[in-house]
Amino acid sequence: MAIAVLGGAGYIGSHTVQALINKGEEVIVIDNLLTGHKEAIHEKATFYEGDIRDKEFMLSVFKKESISGVVHFAASSLVGESVENPLKYFNNNVYGTQITLEVMKETGVKKIVFSSTAATYGEPKEVPILETTPTNPKNPYGESKLMMEKMMRWCDEAYGIKFVALRYFNVAGASLDTSIGEDHNPETHLVPIILQTALGQREKISIFGDDYPTEDGTCVRDYVHVVDLGAAHVLALDYLSKGNESNIFNLGSSEGFSVKQMIDEARLVTGKEIPSAVSEKRAGDPAVLVASPEKAKEILGWQPQYTDIKTIFETAWAWHVSRPNGY
Ligand code: UDP
Repeated sequence: MAIAVLGGAGYIGSHTVQALINKGEEVIVIDNLLTGHKEAIHEKATFYEGDIRDKEFMLSVFKKESISGVVHFAASSLVGESVENPLKYFNNNVYGTQITLEVMKETGVKKIVFSSTAATYGEPKEVPILETTPTNPKNPYGESKLMMEKMMRWCDEAYGIKFVALRYFNVAGASLDTSIGEDHNPETHLVPIILQTALGQREKISIFGDDYPTEDGTCVRDYVHVVDLGAAHVLALDYLSKGNESNIFNLGSSEGFSVKQMIDEARLVTGKEIPSAVSEKRAGDPAVLVASPEKAKEILGWQPQYTDIKTIFETAWAWHVSRPNGY
């Protein structure tokens, strides 16, 4: 039996594929390669190029292969783009999930673990954020992920498809052997942008606002190492395999770092100056997003090993230095 990883050529997907294969699982990767990279696909995975919205394609793969569970990363994930083009997000993320669930129902696959996001919470009134903190997404990206969670809930009730939604906070870092890492085009995330600046590929890093109600005025986020995130998906599949109920977990570190603290840490790790300048705020940025990961630790037995800022920067830096232009 194999695990189908939808979006397994992407950043988090490829690290999860690596974790599954290291554990001895058979893995099938399905990816349309619009944002994923062929080179990121593990050599031991069976690859099918195609779109999860293409039901005929999906059914053909699910009928040909013997699939015991699905891990679903195949979604669009840029907040700003989602505000400008919400229908893209409802189409790719929500409709793509609908087709996935239809295909799972028709082929009898009963387990799915999928990427949700801290963006489902919007601007939370409490920190650290618990899974019981009310959801109130502030952009179509977060809304689409919440809709995906809700679809799964009803499909569990009607068809017995069990799900685990993993609400990620800020993901960064790279595989310890630098074989895979983060490569987005365009890049919008803080850690790779800082490191591209350290490499001299950007003139400076723009700090989006310094008058937030935080200690140094810049936004505070909770950073998780991508390898720890991959491990959490493996644990979530194990959890479902044991017959447990559908569930939702935050994946964060319970520690917050400001944009300025992140740049300072990168200066220490890289030994580079990394010029920065304060610029306009980015629309829709909450001041502080910090998770309580206690539920994932307690119920899934998740034990993050690399989720400290130094290791995150060291591994991301090693990746950027070895692949300055990405894949
Ligand atoms: N950020 C920044 N400059 C950049 C990119 C990001 O100041 O060039 C800030 C952004 O406003 C946010 C934090 O860094 O407060 C993390 O942003 P990212 O896009 O990495 O993740 P998000 O928190 O939006 O999911």
